[in-house]
Amino acid sequence: MRPTEPPRPIGDMYSLVYEGIDAIGTADASALAKLADIASSVPKWIGDHLAMEHTYPSPSGVMECRLNQWYFAKGMEPDQASPRGWKVRRAMGVLSEPYWMAVLATGGAKVDLPNERLDCGPNMWAHPDAVMDDEFLLEFKSVSGWGYKKLVIQHGGVEVLEKAHYVQAQLYMYAADFDWTLYLTYPADFSQTQSSMRQMKKYGPHYELQPVYLEWVARDEATIDMALQRAEMLARDQLSDDPPPREFSGVEFLNSGKRAWPCGYCLHLGKCQENIMPARAEEGNDESIRFV
Ligand code: SF4
Repeated sequence: MRPTEPPRPIGDMYSLVYEGIDAIGTADASALAKLADIASSVPKWIGDHLAMEHTYPSPSGVMECRLNQWYFAKGMEPDQASPRGWKVRRAMGVLSEPYWMAVLATGGAKVDLPNERLDCGPNMWAHPDAVMDDEFLLEFKSVSGWGYKKLVIQHGGVEVLEKAHYVQAQLYMYAADFDWTLYLTYPADFSQTQSSMRQMKKYGPHYELQPVYLEWVARDEATIDMALQRAEMLARDQLSDDPPPREFSGVEFLNSGKRAWPCGYCLHLGKCQENIMPARAEEGNDESIRFV
């Protein structure tokens, strides 16, 4: 049974966010004081955040490929380095979170950094971004323009369009014992995203892209159970020296030539592909192809 009545109307939350953006944008003294106040707690908070992401499984990565997580958990060197552009985006995403906290706190709300790691199931720690007015959790996400556009124009919301974010929010609500999360996301490349939408006939040259997307995420026990069971399986995988099965094709490119998701971006693609090369049966006259 999911809770049905969000803590506040979503329109009120948009108003609050837009007021906060304008206040910080015009160097409003109380808004900047909030930002300074929050910033002093940020170094420890960032450290906890990053430590949490390096457990296997982790709340943010529990839905990722089982085999990929096993390679990482076993300390195997990736086959390719993480692109620097990814590293910059990830760091900028973490560093932007205090800004969003200050935006939400500008109107006088109490926005607390938890600054504690909460037990969240096998090998997992939860580190919610913030708690607002002791009422609900806040989860901030920077997404690509492509991902942002999907959220703004398609139906289904976070549960359907950003499943990993949805599951992470559920695990945080479970660990921190809350019923609601305010999900706030924004595009890493606002102008480019708006420009690409203005070139589409459906939106036209005067289209104004909203700078932020908000959604209430209600606690869902079925998703929490699924994620905890999956985490138990992933933790068991690590006890074995035999790799678990892959959960995706292991193919880098689609027939169209486009890079496939997620395997085309997987840092362990090389090792994974070695394991799916067809091998001839070694014994007898069996000429069949087998996949290992
Ligand atoms: S290449 Fe694909 S299937 Fe193989 S480990 Fe990576 S994500 Fe999993």
